[in-house]
Amino acid sequence: MSKRVLVKFSGEALAGKTGFGIESEILNYIALELKSLVDNGIEVGIVIGGGNFIRGVSASEGGLIRRTSGDYMGMLATVINGVAMQEALEHHGLDVRVQSALEIKEVCETYIYRRAVRHFEKGRVVIFVAGTGNPFFTTDTAATLRAVEIEAQMIIKATKVDGVYDKDPCKFEDAKMLGKISYDQALKDNIKVMDDTAIALAKDNALPIVVCNMFKAGNLLKIIQEEKDAIYSMVSN
Ligand code: UDP
Repeated sequence: MSKRVLVKFSGEALAGKTGFGIESEILNYIALELKSLVDNGIEVGIVIGGGNFIRGVSASEGGLIRRTSGDYMGMLATVINGVAMQEALEHHGLDVRVQSALEIKEVCETYIYRRAVRHFEKGRVVIFVAGTGNPFFTTDTAATLRAVEIEAQMIIKATKVDGVYDKDPCKFEDAKMLGKISYDQALKDNIKVMDDTAIALAKDNALPIVVCNMFKAGNLLKIIQEEKDAIYSMVSN
C-alpha cells in the first residue's frame, strides 16, 4: 500500500510578509514541495487554514459580527486558499480535486469520504476545504478529522519553525527542540502544536502528528521517506 499523508498548513503561510492574502511565489513554492511528494508515489491530502483572510475569533471581536457568522466567514476563506492551491498544483501537471465540507457546488465537490479515497487511488491530490463545516472548530481539527477518516499514516503540520520547542525559540536563545512528545504531554504541558480538540482526536486514533518547517526545501519528502537528516518533531503514543 502506498503512503497516504495529510499535510496541514496555515493560511498565513500563503500570505508572506504582509500576513494578508496570497503571494503567488509562496503558493508556487508550496505547490512544488507538495508535487515532490506526489512524484514519489505518496498520496497527498491537504488542508489549508484561512487566517490570511479571516478568523472567526478576530472577526467577532468588538461584537458587531457574531462568532458563528465569523466562523463561517473563516471557513469560506479556506475555500479561497484551496482553490488557489488547486490552480498552482494543476499548473505543475497534477490532478487535483477540492472537496468542501459546505456545499458550494459551482466551485468544488462536496466532501464525500468514499469519493475522496477513490481520488487518492487514482493518484489525485485532494484538498479539503471549509474546515469541518461547523463553527467553533479549527482547521487543525478539520485536518485531523480528515486524516483519521482517510486513514492517513500521519498528519504533517507544516509551519515556519523546525518543530516543537520546550519554550518559545523566538524569545529564548536556549530553547531546545523536542524530538518526540506524547499526546498526553502535549495536552498536559499545553504545548500548542494544535488545539486540544485536534490533539485529543489524534490521540484517540493513534494518528502521529508531525510538526516541521515547510520552508526547508525537500524536508517534507525526507520526513515521509524516513530519511535520517529529516528535521521535525513528532507527537505520538
Ligand atoms: N473554522 C470553523 N470551523 C472549522 C474550521 C475553521 O469555524 O471546522 C473557521 C474559524 O473561524 C477559523 C477560520 O475558519 O478561525 C480559519 O481557520 P484557522 O483559524 O484554523 O486558520 P489558520 O490559522 O490555520 O490559517
